Amino acid sequence: MSLDNHLTTQELRALDAAHHIHPFSDTAEMRAKGARVITRADGVWLQDSEGNRILDGMAGLWCVNIGYGRRELADVAYRQMQQLPFYNTFFMTTHPPAVELSAKLAEIAPGDKNRVFFASGGSDANDTNIRLVRHYWAALGKPDKSVIISRKNGYHGSSVGSASLGGMAPMHAQGGLPIPDITHIDQPHWWAEGGDLSPEEFGLARARQLEEAIDRIGEHRVAAFIAEPVQGAGGVIIPPETYWPEISRICREREILLIADEVITGFGRTGRWFGSETYDIDPDIMTIAKGMSSGYQPIGGSILRESVAQVIEEGGEFNHGYTYSSHPVAAAVALENIRILQEEKIVEQVAEDTAPYLAAKWHMLADHPMVGQARICGMMGALELTPDVAARAPFANTGTVGLMTRERCFANGLVMRHVGDKMIISPPLTISHTEIDRLVELAWQSLDEGMAQAKAEGAF
Ligand code: PMP
Repeated sequence: MSLDNHLTTQELRALDAAHHIHPFSDTAEMRAKGARVITRADGVWLQDSEGNRILDGMAGLWCVNIGYGRRELADVAYRQMQQLPFYNTFFMTTHPPAVELSAKLAEIAPGDKNRVFFASGGSDANDTNIRLVRHYWAALGKPDKSVIISRKNGYHGSSVGSASLGGMAPMHAQGGLPIPDITHIDQPHWWAEGGDLSPEEFGLARARQLEEAIDRIGEHRVAAFIAEPVQGAGGVIIPPETYWPEISRICREREILLIADEVITGFGRTGRWFGSETYDIDPDIMTIAKGMSSGYQPIGGSILRESVAQVIEEGGEFNHGYTYSSHPVAAAVALENIRILQEEKIVEQVAEDTAPYLAAKWHMLADHPMVGQARICGMMGALELTPDVAARAPFANTGTVGLMTRERCFANGLVMRHVGDKMIISPPLTISHTEIDRLVELAWQSLDEGMAQAKAEGAF
């Protein structure tokens, strides 16, 4: 039982360093510095083992949409664990939480996205999608349509399949990725890659790479295109306004499926229930996870357009499933989370109040001398750090100044993440005006300190 821990911070760090391998971490570096130990959280505030309060500008990993400490979710989990802690939905069996959650998702998903296949998170949901789209075309008598097009610097998860879909070069460099029949096109990141083009021209040019890729590979070979409505882990890359309409046109005209990875953008993050609504995208499949349960339980899934689900249905048995697909406790918690989002009108509140307030404050950070661009979509934002604002120039050693600034944020009691030299936020949707003021104040202070350090160390 580890709630009120009897171990000191030093003891926890030593045991952690000895036995715990952390995701996306340099173990040697962490061993030298000692991991930060988070012990509890409430609202948007984390508390560490030394009693420090830290404003969580990332909602954990973009997931704690309703904030920490909601008792209702704990109560539902407790009741569900007593009544039916586990049962599967294989072999012609179901249970009430799976049924009710599927129906609820069909209700809130836009258009004819009516059918859900559950996973435990976003990676395995995207693995499902790889198998699903290939099985879909095979069931239609077109087994050669197996290539999936995705984007460089996109993120779709960390399993072999989903990391192959993703376009993260450092991930591909380990473990022999990507798997065959996945092709990556360039991302719509105007600030870094737009050159002399206007954002509108650049958005069109990048979208047309999809058409070029389909022509090059052959439409008879392409199964699907997958993308995040707004790239999250890549650095909150908000596409130019011309991008999604052009992608949608290409997908309409060509015989390929469109998968919107809504793992971050779903459940209110962009000010609508789904990023696809914000960008007027009509995907055939949406990947969901994170905000679906606000991270209180691990759950994810794929929501399918009715007509796609029908082809899968007619294709006989789909030989795919996870032990924890539609886990009853996770499903019950997700349902309660969605009830809270709906009844407390949290998504509406984001659209009408919190996101515009945050945007106004966030854009003020563009006045900082080290910030080249402050961009934001709903409740996810990024700052591009640069030594030369006018030239949109990158720093010589990518990521060094970003890391320095992130360290200053931590020291000042704010969690902001750095992606290279971008600083990013994605706070709980329930953050208040006062907390937004505090977040922006701490961000400015940390930028000042990061810049001072960068100058002292000759990185600026
Ligand atoms: N897709 C996107 C867009 C994500 O941001 C993530 C996680 N950051 C994933 C998929 C993978 O989800 P998980 O970590 O739950 O497997």
